[in-house]
Amino acid sequence: MRHCALSEAAAPMDQAELARHTPLMRQYFAAKAEYPATLLFFRMGDFYELFYDDARKAARLLDITLTQRGESAGAPIPMAGVPYHAIEAYLAKLVRAGESAAICEQIGDPSGKGPMERKVVRVVTPGTLTDEALLPERRDNLLLAIAAGQSGYGLAWVDLAGGRFVLGEVADADALAAELARLAPAETLVGEDVAWPPAVASLTGLRQRPPWHFDATSAQRELTKFFGTQDLSGFGADGVPLAIAAAGCLLGYLKETQKAALPHLTGLAAESADETVAMDAATRRNLELDMHPSGDARYTLLGVLDSTITPMGSRALRRWLHRPLRDHATLRLRHQVLAALIEAGVLNVLREKLRGIGDLERILARVALRSARPRDLATLHDGLAAAPDFKQTLAKLESPLLHQLLERLGEHADTVRLLQAAIVERPPALLREGGAIAEGYDAELDELRQLSTHADQYLVELEARERAATGIATLKVGYNRVHGYYIEFGKAQADKAPAHYTRRQTTKNAERYITEELKAFEDKVLSAKERALMRERALYDGVLDALIEKLAPLKQAAQALAELDVLAALAERADALNWSRPELVDEPVIAIERGRHPVVEAVRTEPFEPNDLALDDARRMLVITGPNMGGKSTYMRQNALIVLLAHIGSYVPAARATLGAIDRIFTRIGAGDDLARGQSTFMVEMSETANILHNATAHSLVLMDEVGRGTSTYDGLALARAAAVHLATINRAFTLFATHYFELTELAAQYDGIANVHLDAVEYHDRERGEQLVFMHAVKEGPANRSFGLQVAALAGLPKAVIAEAKQTLVLLERGHRGTPAQAAQTSGHASPQTDLFASAPADPGLVELADALNDLDPDALSPREALDALYRLRAKLPQR
Ligand code: ADP
Repeated sequence: MRHCALSEAAAPMDQAELARHTPLMRQYFAAKAEYPATLLFFRMGDFYELFYDDARKAARLLDITLTQRGESAGAPIPMAGVPYHAIEAYLAKLVRAGESAAICEQIGDPSGKGPMERKVVRVVTPGTLTDEALLPERRDNLLLAIAAGQSGYGLAWVDLAGGRFVLGEVADADALAAELARLAPAETLVGEDVAWPPAVASLTGLRQRPPWHFDATSAQRELTKFFGTQDLSGFGADGVPLAIAAAGCLLGYLKETQKAALPHLTGLAAESADETVAMDAATRRNLELDMHPSGDARYTLLGVLDSTITPMGSRALRRWLHRPLRDHATLRLRHQVLAALIEAGVLNVLREKLRGIGDLERILARVALRSARPRDLATLHDGLAAAPDFKQTLAKLESPLLHQLLERLGEHADTVRLLQAAIVERPPALLREGGAIAEGYDAELDELRQLSTHADQYLVELEARERAATGIATLKVGYNRVHGYYIEFGKAQADKAPAHYTRRQTTKNAERYITEELKAFEDKVLSAKERALMRERALYDGVLDALIEKLAPLKQAAQALAELDVLAALAERADALNWSRPELVDEPVIAIERGRHPVVEAVRTEPFEPNDLALDDARRMLVITGPNMGGKSTYMRQNALIVLLAHIGSYVPAARATLGAIDRIFTRIGAGDDLARGQSTFMVEMSETANILHNATAHSLVLMDEVGRGTSTYDGLALARAAAVHLATINRAFTLFATHYFELTELAAQYDGIANVHLDAVEYHDRERGEQLVFMHAVKEGPANRSFGLQVAALAGLPKAVIAEAKQTLVLLERGHRGTPAQAAQTSGHASPQTDLFASAPADPGLVELADALNDLDPDALSPREALDALYRLRAKLPQR
């Protein structure tokens, strides 16, 4: 692409250079100088135009044509534009790509000389959206700021469309990555002087800010000023200086981009990490909480769980799911609500009522920002009017949390009355079309409307009256654009014109007159429509003022309804899916009877095989073996999901679950699943494992799936074994350890607290299809007693000849096997498992042969994972010494 010789729009220009440009372009440069890093949409007639680099970028991002506009300063101007009426769709596309836009409108008088006056009236950034059309309905849209310091990182985020402003601090880069995975900010502000870890650097919508924007002292000052408080201790925001520093930057950015007051940000909330069951980014992904590799949200936990009715309820549920709580008392209160709703049989009634409630939370944010549309107010009215119904249905139920929610919901009779009186039942989409304010609310408006709509009627009446008074039968009332209204009759009748008729115009055959009355009417009518619209605007503003006065209780009501929606949805799910109320206890225990995987169960057509889990102080780790496809991953994940569900206040897919205190859930899921992401799988695996070994406690639940597969068999086995021993003996975490390394089944005999379980498969001979495997998916005590690698390989389409050859190799290997694994363990002891394992390292010729055979396979016929499986299975049959 040929680049323009001219220094690009963002670069500062000296006066002489500027003077060479056309007046319009000079105006453009002035506007652009204020928004150097933002795409500037410059209104010109029916189009918004972008110039220079902005034009190139927009052409690429929006798929619009890059053209040129005449010349300025002797060079053509690269330009791209979008029609004004389609701008919202383009903005939506831009913010999804993490870009911001400044909208510069024509505000001057078009008849004036020179270019029309223009002004940036709106800045749209991905993290500050409040417009319904641009926002994802069922997830929060967050603007985040991160401050870095000695003690870690401070975070401050704002949900502008929901009116939440939250602070938090984390100790290190891992914890920061976990928070980023939880919050998934649409836009993030960071200091330009900091070397940010990859989790930050790779975010979309990243904005570099100068270091002084993160100054803690001025942040404190600005925040107290903003909230009108003495200090921030009332918000529990003491002792989080880094988060305050981040909040200062955030506030500065909001002021810069939002051209309105933000009265709905009524306070700060400080979140503390030790209130929650922590999950890192990998765990959120591995457990498929709200994202599935296929992109289909139905295959996620949220997909199964989310039967909320309102969008605000749906967003709250997602927040809950990403922030499980540790406090048993809070969780029990939620479980109790579910029990009360189910037992009282009020779920249907309650959920039916919720259907009448819109997205009150976001509507109130738009009210605060004065961008609420008439339909928003009608929805707000309907929602608030329904509040007493909830009381009627729920007040009699026994549940302190429900009563507290009803308390927060409150009564809003005044607001309902105001909205009822002020807003028509079915308002138009936009205020500018008029017709939003109800009749009878304001006498002046009624009269103005009367005038504009009943003008014709009035003229007919006036005509009749004047005819009668003058006795001129041909008298007519008319109107033309130049002279306005007039009374007209033939020249012959001119002498009959009464004295109070003033001549306005003489035409060929007629005289035209005006009277005081008609003149007054004219003034009224001509401007009535405009004045009605203006009056409506003022009245509407008055309604917004009245609502803003009550913002705090209204926000509380919206949040109570959202929470009620979440609880009703959890109750509905529990009831419909036959889940049970978990029991939370103080003892260290995870005891699950007949547990199921909620998502696998929901998407499968065949019945799901329920499985138990029993872990306690004396039994902390299960080594899980069994054939590939046997159900190991499903079993592990279902247990993690059950623990997670209990900690958001949900019932769980099990006949019974008894759970002790849990502080964190960790997962490390196998290399096979990471292959597609093309990272250095071994590095990913090891850093995730290291994170777990460093941070897991005796209250943590750890899932380890196929650790060690990212590297060669012997290294992998050594590492897997060492990690398992560390977890069981040092961390003492509740651990589910699925492995293909058969050697690890020996750990149970060597260490306290470790036990073996396996998933079964049954082999049978089919006359037509030969050897067949049936997976039972049932978890049984003890190690798997057979290797199914070859059968699974056959199922996966390995050519028959290769299977036969592998079988022969296996037989040979088995003949060479001296002594049992247990004996081998006895002779080696467990002091140095590595030496023990590497002692068998010299490659067996049979194994090499099989490896070669597998390597030569058509990759389409067998996935690398399956090939490895077959290999590892054989490895388990090798002699130990
Ligand atoms: P592994 O981890 O042992 O390779 P998976 O957990 O991936 O096996 O399970 C393989 C498939 O078996 C799953 O996709 C699921 O459809 C099915 N499955 C697993 N566990 C069960 C179960 N308990 N009941 C019914 N089907 C199951």
